[in-house]
Amino acid sequence: MRLGLINATVICFALGACQAVPALPEVSEATPQRPHSHRVIPVSNQEDYFNAATNAQPGDQIVLQNGVWRDFDMLLDAEGTIETPITVSAETPGKVILSGQSSLRLAGKHLVISGLVFREGYTPRTEVISFRRDNDNLAYNSRVTETVIENYSNPTRAQRDIWVAMYGQNNVFDHNHLSGKLNSGPTMAVRLNTEDSQNNNHVIRNNYFGPRPVFGSNGGETLRIGTSHYSLTHSGTLVENNYFDRCSGEVEIISNKSGGNTYRGNTFFRSRGTLTLRHGNDTLVENNLFDGDGAPYTGGVRVINARQTVRNNYFKDLTGERFSGALVVMNGVPNSPINRYHQVDGAIIENNVFDTVRRIELAEGSDAERTAVPVNSIFRSNIVIGEGSDAPFRIQDDLSGITFEDNVTTAAPPSEIAYGFEVLPAVTAKTRLPVGHSLGVQRTETGADWYPKPSVSSTFDGGERIEVVASPDALGTALARAKAGDTLVLTSGQYRESKLVNLQVPVTVEAADPDNPPVITFERPNFVQLSGKGSLRMQGVSVSGAASPDASGNSFIFTTSMGGSGNHTVELADMSFTGFDVNKGFSVVSAAKGTFYDRIKISGSHFSDISGTVIKLDTETDDYGIYNAEYVIIEDSSFERIGGPVAAVYRGGRDESTFGPHVWVSDSKFDDVGLRGGPLMELHGVQNLKISGNQIANAKPAQLTITTGNPEVAVSGNTLMDPSAAAVLTTVDLR
Ligand code: CA
Repeated sequence: MRLGLINATVICFALGACQAVPALPEVSEATPQRPHSHRVIPVSNQEDYFNAATNAQPGDQIVLQNGVWRDFDMLLDAEGTIETPITVSAETPGKVILSGQSSLRLAGKHLVISGLVFREGYTPRTEVISFRRDNDNLAYNSRVTETVIENYSNPTRAQRDIWVAMYGQNNVFDHNHLSGKLNSGPTMAVRLNTEDSQNNNHVIRNNYFGPRPVFGSNGGETLRIGTSHYSLTHSGTLVENNYFDRCSGEVEIISNKSGGNTYRGNTFFRSRGTLTLRHGNDTLVENNLFDGDGAPYTGGVRVINARQTVRNNYFKDLTGERFSGALVVMNGVPNSPINRYHQVDGAIIENNVFDTVRRIELAEGSDAERTAVPVNSIFRSNIVIGEGSDAPFRIQDDLSGITFEDNVTTAAPPSEIAYGFEVLPAVTAKTRLPVGHSLGVQRTETGADWYPKPSVSSTFDGGERIEVVASPDALGTALARAKAGDTLVLTSGQYRESKLVNLQVPVTVEAADPDNPPVITFERPNFVQLSGKGSLRMQGVSVSGAASPDASGNSFIFTTSMGGSGNHTVELADMSFTGFDVNKGFSVVSAAKGTFYDRIKISGSHFSDISGTVIKLDTETDDYGIYNAEYVIIEDSSFERIGGPVAAVYRGGRDESTFGPHVWVSDSKFDDVGLRGGPLMELHGVQNLKISGNQIANAKPAQLTITTGNPEVAVSGNTLMDPSAAAVLTTVDLR
């Protein structure tokens, strides 16, 4: 049986831009109709599998027995035919688990893989699923379907790998589920590194790309097609009807780096960043739904290079700006090197709906290097509704190279483009929106229907409430036993903890009686070490550092890069921390190099007599654009007699791939901060800083060092209690 075949056609538009619509590759269905002579070969161990695979004949169906296949370096290098493919499937889809150091390589022709689940481990190779055996032996006309890779991240965040890499030609990847990648490298990539992988005609369809948390540097793409080196060669990959659910690793959800690709009918939900047409020409983006749901930094399409078409897309509730706008048309670099920004030339942007979006950025990135403005381009028949009463357009350079015509909007656009718009009241404009539009794809139509998709509930929810009675080591024992989502309720009294806790799941700790808070002391330099998926929320508890030894690296909560690369969250509400002064550098929350917090939030809490940096996030000093926390939030709290700064955050380098780090400090009191001579806060490379409504006494100004980008900085409503104090914030600009 063949999947539907359509002859190659070329669709042309006004202005002469043409996109080749690729013929669909000839691959076989997962359960082919088989002549009676072909064999079903059940296998129950790796040796039997390799025997079957090595001797596979066209039409063979190798069936993996249900169970856990550990450290399975799976290879299928064989040749089937279109009517008699060689298949490898699970006895029951979803019941064959490849764990530990497992991977899958395909090479040859007409192969079909289905029903496997990779989890509880990570690949020892560069890839988990690879459409090649090695550099010289690639896969063609082959298919991977209904296969899952979940939480299969290398425990070292900086260790780079790719979960799925397509090589060869005419391959199909459909109805798969890829979720939770935490380490460096794209979740999926199409490689064009040899001629046999160019003009590839691949199809990536109906896959579920599940949540990819913020990576905290470049290298967190969900899909990349090509690389800058091969970007001027033709790729011809079709990416159709996939669901991108909270794919927020970095500024590029998809990094398109080759020519002639098509992105059609996909849904992007609450995903930070954009589908970025980073390198290569002649790509078509149509009938997609970009639904930001109002989440931060959600964007649409970023246009760079020649002859890109963006039409019939629906952009909805997108809050992103700059590189993350609903639509971003970039400036280029004159005579650009292949890895910089080629000029936008011949872009067609038509029949799109922008429904409640914050920004459409035009000639974005204009600076001393990026001076080549867009040319020969058109913006036509679009409906544009901004999120407020102002027009969402922001124009950074000369726009005479873009023609605007027959557009509708709800607020007067900037004068230089106003000729191309009819301004209507929002109510009237909304009557022009397509009714019951069928853009994008439903989540339920993607992935493997037997494998559940992750929920949207809080990481701390879903467990049991467990009472813990005050006694020595009671809290540490309870934390060590806790399951994900549990809440430990502490009775009033003393908790003297003699052991370090390695916390690998999200747990909440709260006081049974907030008026009579439990008191924690700990005898090691640290109490809670976060690894894996470890996160900690505490409320209404007092913590004293008085029992800790005079060691180096003292910190109540810290992280380790060993044993898991999880994105951690720490929330401290209505807490008290005192007596952290047995040595010179005692912290409350700190990060090891190579570890990352999604959020550290402190509210309603009191800190006094802390000898070190209260929140210490300054270990990524290599200047690679890497950092330790996306959000640091302090509100309604007080800090007295603090030796170091309240927060030290470091993000070095000039890379433009991240939105963070963010530091937001509000409605808090500071007195005697920086007793060892430093500033109120040390903020190096912070991209988003808000300091508002605070009272500050006896502290030097916070110091912001600007290294790249255009950081958003808002300082307002603070009171300097000491009339001789110079400022709340001083800024050093290294750009
Ligand atoms: Ca990137």
